Parts: sequence; structure tokens; C-alpha cells
Amino acid sequence: MFAERIQHLTSSIIREILAAAQQPGVISFAGGLPAAGSFPEPDWSVLPTYVKQYGMSEGEPELREAIAADARAKGIRCEANQVLVLSGSQQGLDLVSKLFIDPHSSVLVESPTYLAALQCFRLFQADCQGVPLKANGLDMATFESQVRDHKPRFAYLIPSFQNPSGTCYDQAARHETAAMLDKYGLPLLEDEPYCELDYDNVEKPPICSLLQRAPWIYQGSFSKILMPGLRVGYLIAHPSLIAPLVRLKQAADLHTNRPGQWLALDYLRSAEKPQRLARLQGFYRERRDAFAAALESEFADIAEWQVPSGGLFFWLKLKQVRDTRPLLQPALEAGVAFMPGEAFFAEEQPPLGYLRLNFSHTEPELMVEGLQRLRKVLESA
Ligand code: PMP
Repeated sequence: MFAERIQHLTSSIIREILAAAQQPGVISFAGGLPAAGSFPEPDWSVLPTYVKQYGMSEGEPELREAIAADARAKGIRCEANQVLVLSGSQQGLDLVSKLFIDPHSSVLVESPTYLAALQCFRLFQADCQGVPLKANGLDMATFESQVRDHKPRFAYLIPSFQNPSGTCYDQAARHETAAMLDKYGLPLLEDEPYCELDYDNVEKPPICSLLQRAPWIYQGSFSKILMPGLRVGYLIAHPSLIAPLVRLKQAADLHTNRPGQWLALDYLRSAEKPQRLARLQGFYRERRDAFAAALESEFADIAEWQVPSGGLFFWLKLKQVRDTRPLLQPALEAGVAFMPGEAFFAEEQPPLGYLRLNFSHTEPELMVEGLQRLRKVLESA
């Protein structure tokens, strides 16, 4: 009855865990939810009437201008006509997949990588090839051999405060990665929803701004800096790629919701934007520090981790290597939720013993209690 690709449609374990993790009494380190208290209270009554009408597929012209100006400030050489406003940056993964992936095309991904990107690329029947992430960037030797062996259609990278590992590529890694992409003319999909959630003021030039030759697409999102329910994100594409992406957007959903675009523009134009961002960063920095302290007191003897400089996640490696997937149900029963690390790897036999723990959503007073519950499950299961 269904199209062949539906055989490749996997469920997103995250979205399933999220439902269970929202039960009362469960302390959830599972999702990537921004803290609800960080959302602004917009004045919807001042929404202009024109936003009720159909709009342009590319997005609102003024919003595209504002996004391009922001991107130029980050070093990306671009004009507003290279910007496509998206219904969440997740939509960019879908459109880019449609543009590049045929059945059995290879796509190069970080190992580990964003689970819902794997879900999307696999739906289009891509063979995802992983390149191990090290503390400060990609393992370049494996990167080159994967490019030579598999001739991928594009490389999907999350260089800043990666989901799930929290890794931020250092400057040297960014330059080396750009040089490698240029050497093979390999297109880059650079996904940066966490780039503004920077708590330690890290230097992080976009990799696409360092490219000389390879085509690129850069994605950003308003989910983490404004609110995820808005469903507004964007991509900026090399001039050679924007026209087909706009047509794919037309075919997908005509255009992104206009009230949400209006709010995103209001945010970008607001004179208080720098203070709002600084407040948000301060709020998350405190939670990151509280979680680091809670981990140090509860998990130091059983796991290893690096304190992330931004983003929403700690990535733990258990000292006693084991499959963490069977621990999820007992953990939920014990009133704590986490994300098993195995789900984030492209490899059929993923490395075992990793956990992704979100620190942004849980009140600091509950962090130690949540970790103690998790530790008990680890010790008894
Ligand atoms: N890319 C990455 C790496 C993500 O972690 C997420 C969401 N958590 C997205 C894309 C999608 O974000 P959104 O659609 O809300 O912009």
C-alpha cells in the first residue's frame, strides 16, 4: 500500500521518550527543551493584519534582510536573496535531503549526530557514513577516507555545541574541515541551532564562511533563542543552491507561518536583543554549572564527560561499558528520563555506554535527586 521509502521510516525514540518523560513526578534529562521560563511574552494584539494573508515562499522580505545582516556579522558572505525562511530548521533537513539524496546515496555525518537528521536522511534511503568526533572537531583522517571511499553527496555537520555531544569545533578544526571540503568540492550542510547558546564566549567562525570552492547551506533557528513552538528557522544557501531549495519549499508547505515570522523579525529588530540574549545565556550558564556540580558529586566515579561551553547537553561515557537502551524503562519507572547514546550513531553496531543528559529543563534543586535516581538504576539493572 505504501511507497517503498516507508520501509525506511524509523520512529524517533526522542519523541516517544518525551511523552513518557512528561508524566508527573519524572525528572527529565531526556529532551532538548529550552526552559519554559526563558520564553518572552509577546504582545499578539499588535500583530499586523497582513500576516493573515498568504505570503511568499522565500519568507518575509524584511526578515530575510535581517537574517542576512546577522549572518554577515558572523562572517558569512551572503545577501537576503540567499535566505529561505523555514518552518523550523528541521524542515531544512527535509528540503536538503530532497535536493541531494537518491536511494543509496552516501551522506557524511558526525559520529554521534542529531538523531532526527539520521531519521530524515534514512527516509530518503541514504547510507549515512559516520566520522568520529574528537574533543575539538572531526577525526580528519577518517573524514578523508570516508569521502574517498563513499563519495558522499554532502557532509552534515553541527560544529557548535553539538547535539548530542556538546562538542564545539575549535578554530583549527574549522579551518581544516573547510580545507577538506574544498579539496573534494563536497557540499556542506552546516546546522547551527545552538550557536547563540554560548556560555563561555567561544570564537567560532562558521565553516561555510571559510570555504573557497565547496557549495554550502547554513541553517539557523529561532527555537532556542526565542521559542520552539514558533516553528521558525532559516537556511542560507550558496547562490547555486537557493533556487531549487525555494521550489522545494513551495512544494512542501507554500511558506512558513507569517505570525511567527513577524515575531522573529520583532525579536531581531528589538533594541533589547543583546540584553535578552545575555539574560538567556546567563540563565543557561547557571543551569550548566549547577548540573556540572551535581554530576561531579554523583557520577564522578562511574562516568566521564567534558563540561560543554554551550548548547543544552552533557554527553556521558560510562566507565563500565554497557548498552544503555535497556535502562530506559527502569529509569522511567524510577522517575528519571535520559537519552540512550546508542540512538545517535549512524553505525549499525553503535558504540555502547553513552548517555545524553539535558541540563536546561530541570530546576537546579532537582538535579541531584534526578542523578541519584539514575545512578540507582545503573547500579541495579
Ligand atoms: N538541528 C539540530 C542539531 C537540533 O538539535 C534541532 C532541534 N533540537 C533541530 C535541528 C531542529 O530545530 P528546529 O526545527 O526547532 O529549528
